[in-house]
Amino acid sequence: MRFPFKDSEDVAVFACCHIIDEGADICYVSHDEDDGAWQFLCDRDNHEDFEGRVISLKEAFEIDNSIGELADLKLGCEAVRDGKTLSWK
Ligand SMILES: [Zn+2]
Repeated sequence: MRFPFKDSEDVAVFACCHIIDEGADICYVSHDEDDGAWQFLCDRDNHEDFEGRVISLKEAFEIDNSIGELADLKLGCEAVRDGKTLSWK
């Protein structure tokens, strides 16, 4: 599948440990207004002291191709969904 992001494949992004270690679905994506950083979280509530992992954008895309739908998410915006098979809003 074509890599849809304008960012480089090896740009560093943040993901919560549940996604990386436990295969949790990505249910929250934000694109930071200040530094353009992408952040990917699962649907659990408690992310205040979660263990963050730094991965490449390409790795995140390989974990879940459907984040590609958000490739043009504007800076300062975020998207959520209730489950992997549901659409982003
Ligand atoms: Zn999580």
